[in-house]
Amino acid sequence: MLTLLKLLKDGRFHSGQTLGAALGVSRSAVWKQLQHLEAELGLSIHKVRGRGYQLAAPLTLLDADAIRRQSASCDWPILVFDSIDSTNTEALRAIQRGEAAPFLVLAERQTAGRGRRGRKWVSPFAENIYYSLVLRIQGGMRQLEGLSLVVGLAVLQALRESGVQSAGLKWPNDLLVGQKKIAGILLELVGDPADVCHVVLGVGINVNMQSADEVDQQWTSMKLESGRLFDRNALVALLGITLQKYLDRHQVGGFTAIQREWEQNHLWQGRLVSLTAGSNQIDGEVLGIDSQGALRLKVGGVEKVFSGGELSLRLRDDS
Ligand code: ATP
Repeated sequence: MLTLLKLLKDGRFHSGQTLGAALGVSRSAVWKQLQHLEAELGLSIHKVRGRGYQLAAPLTLLDADAIRRQSASCDWPILVFDSIDSTNTEALRAIQRGEAAPFLVLAERQTAGRGRRGRKWVSPFAENIYYSLVLRIQGGMRQLEGLSLVVGLAVLQALRESGVQSAGLKWPNDLLVGQKKIAGILLELVGDPADVCHVVLGVGINVNMQSADEVDQQWTSMKLESGRLFDRNALVALLGITLQKYLDRHQVGGFTAIQREWEQNHLWQGRLVSLTAGSNQIDGEVLGIDSQGALRLKVGGVEKVFSGGELSLRLRDDS
């Protein structure tokens, strides 16, 4: 099916006969595959009598060589999947198989993309970036401190350098434009953080997505913000470069070297928020983050510090 898609991706018309000849199948088999493409991948294909078939919009697929050419300094192997349950899950499986880190897992789509707390990350085919970079960390609790916030800054820089200037950070792991989510981060760790461990830096960025009914909160994409389509290979390359830069800074100076810059880019600095953990809710004013990336809130006139994967932040109506 994907061979057929690769023949069509230039956005030109191709006759059923040429496609059938290239695939070594009959015209009716081509027709069936086209229907699968539409149903399975949500693609729209124009069918015009006498001219053939054409993708409604040209498609650029992920290409490890193109990514490598544009980010020569990132010398990690790149594994590209047409379809996978979740790039983070595949990364965790690859660690178990003994794949040597660092390495990068990318996919055109995720059938079970994940957010925090088992929530779903909507991941349509060939529109966005689903990215999991695996690092091996040895004896360095310090190297894990604030790491997901460091990744957030790297994603933010990649978005800004691509022209999405208005993006900012929301503690702990989201990137928003205004109130709309444009990217999310999910870090997962295996092994002993005090000895040798692997960390999966999972990043989902909405790139060319223009509709997604299943997303149950406000969202946006780079395309919706800028009005233009983006080359995902160039963006993956740029993200590798910005990640490497921030990871190096973090390794040398620890999270304190980055704390101030993170706060400067926090969209909700000084705002009134509600922090929820399960059924508990705490209202307060955002003071900033501490030297480990935990959230500092003023609650009833007293500063309190919060951290942990179960916490979710919302702006209060009176903010
Ligand atoms: P919250 O934003 O409530 O604090 P969270 O940060 O824990 O939640 P994540 O786990 O990062 O959220 O992301 C999962 C949530 O993001 C989903 O429950 C859904 O509301 C939203 N979402 C899912 N897919 C997308 C997407 N492609 N773009 C933007 N938002 C999405």
